Amino acid sequence: MVIIGAGECGARAALALRGLSYNGPVTLIGAEPHLPYERPPLSKEAMVTDAPEVRPIASEAELAAKAITHLRPVSVASIGRTAKAVKLTDGRTLAYDRLLLAMGAEPRRLTMPGLGDRCVYLRTFNDALAIRGHLKSKSRIAIIGGGFIGLELAAAARKLGAEAVVVEAQPRILMRGVPAGIAAVIHAAHEANGAEIVCNAGIAAIHDDGGKVRLTLSDSRMIDADLVVIGIGAVPSTRLAKEAGLDIENGVAVDETLRTSDPDIFAAGDCCSFPLPVYDGRRVRLEAWRNAQEQGALAARNMLGASEAVSSVPWFWSDQYDLTLQIAGLSGEAETVVRRDLGAGAFILFHLARDGRLVAASGIGPGNAVARDIRLAEMLIAGRATPAQADLASPDVKLKALLGR
Ligand code: NAP
Repeated sequence: MVIIGAGECGARAALALRGLSYNGPVTLIGAEPHLPYERPPLSKEAMVTDAPEVRPIASEAELAAKAITHLRPVSVASIGRTAKAVKLTDGRTLAYDRLLLAMGAEPRRLTMPGLGDRCVYLRTFNDALAIRGHLKSKSRIAIIGGGFIGLELAAAARKLGAEAVVVEAQPRILMRGVPAGIAAVIHAAHEANGAEIVCNAGIAAIHDDGGKVRLTLSDSRMIDADLVVIGIGAVPSTRLAKEAGLDIENGVAVDETLRTSDPDIFAAGDCCSFPLPVYDGRRVRLEAWRNAQEQGALAARNMLGASEAVSSVPWFWSDQYDLTLQIAGLSGEAETVVRRDLGAGAFILFHLARDGRLVAASGIGPGNAVARDIRLAEMLIAGRATPAQADLASPDVKLKALLGR
């Protein structure tokens, strides 16, 4: 069993293979020098601790005890499907019976003149360390992109007393996956905490003189910063799969069992698109921690011969200041939105399709105020429930009670 990519997904797959009592060789190939590690802290805790450390998914001792060979730092140069072998950039060749592509995603690059060393991206632990080095009281950080990276970083910068300004091209932050009512709460929290958010703003020019960076916005406004972080989305890592002739469709295309167009090759996590049964086979690609974890484990089962379909409901979260946002499901097909207030400023929006089916729930509130109800909403979504709008709106009706109906 050979796994390309030693992130959340690849590492979980390797551990799951051993959990399933597979005794043959397991090789995990990672391009980074570190043990497999958790990425969510990179834009959160790692930004506010003095000496950030990697939070390993498995220790050296655990990998050794489970006889998981972790090759690092090394990349795969090519996949030979006829020979069933991968070629590494250091010249080695590894044969496989089953191959898992868990290559993740990489930052979408901004291509324009004027970018320099002080214009950076955040994906890896080393990226996080470099950014952390610039965050201190009174330093000024500009972030291009009002998505999750940009907003979580802005919150961390404010916690440290740094100035933060987020520049978003769209009319509002989190335009793609977060409902307007929730994005507005997050926007207000940033303003209340002293971060500046500029929407509807394209970047007309960048000038990085090695000391300061000057951004010129499309309305000619200028922003000077000590560091610019670019968080304008991610693109799936598909080069190897494409060169190997595998089907690609917004990522490596897999079936509901995570098998690619080659029966001996599976793909999972951020790099693949898959049909999601709970949404009638709609093809999606998810960039989310829990999805990477679950698909790593599912791929392991299917690599060993099970034919289990993806069954989970998409879920992700974001922490900014004292607020936690959680979203379960996909709101794309929603017709109606019903709001339930949970008190203390927390609320959930339930998204219903035309036929009354609950397709998504988005919640925001302090701490873990929305966690339990989002979990229950997730179960309702998985069960294709069609709850009454009045029941969803009323905090007196327990969501748990709706599950049994
Ligand atoms: P993201 O959440 O997709 O947000 C990128 C934002 O930047 C979008 O609003 C995008 O608008 C905007 N944008 C695109 N081009 C721009 C430009 N030229 N100027 C200004 N704004 C522009 O992506 P991200 O924040 O870069 O995060 C990257 C990855 O890390 C994602 O996979 C994300 O899920 C993951 N991550 C997740 C979390 C979390 O779940 N809590 C936290 C950190 C990172 P358009 O939509 O119009 O392109």
